[in-house]
Amino acid sequence: MALQQARCRSCGATILWGETVRGKRTPVNVRPVTIFVEDRDLRPGRTLLRALAGYVSHFATCPRVQEHRKKKRDQAILDDAAREMGDDRSDPF
Ligand SMILES: [Zn+2]
Repeated sequence: MALQQARCRSCGATILWGETVRGKRTPVNVRPVTIFVEDRDLRPGRTLLRALAGYVSHFATCPRVQEHRKKKRDQAILDDAAREMGDDRSDPF
């Protein structure tokens, strides 16, 4: 799936939606950044840094990230309540 441009529903920032290797959709910031990861060096006691370009999760920088968490928690509460009440809608009593 190609990255799809969208707007964050909480803060209005332009974001990109992508799919992780595990098949989960996730929002990331538009501007790629460079990070450095540790890489092995054959010489003992040495560590090298390898530069990688990538995207930062929008959840890490969204100024209104609490709203994302709250929505998820609220939905979980509703799901729990629905399970406790059972899903048999044929008998309203
Ligand atoms: Zn946001």
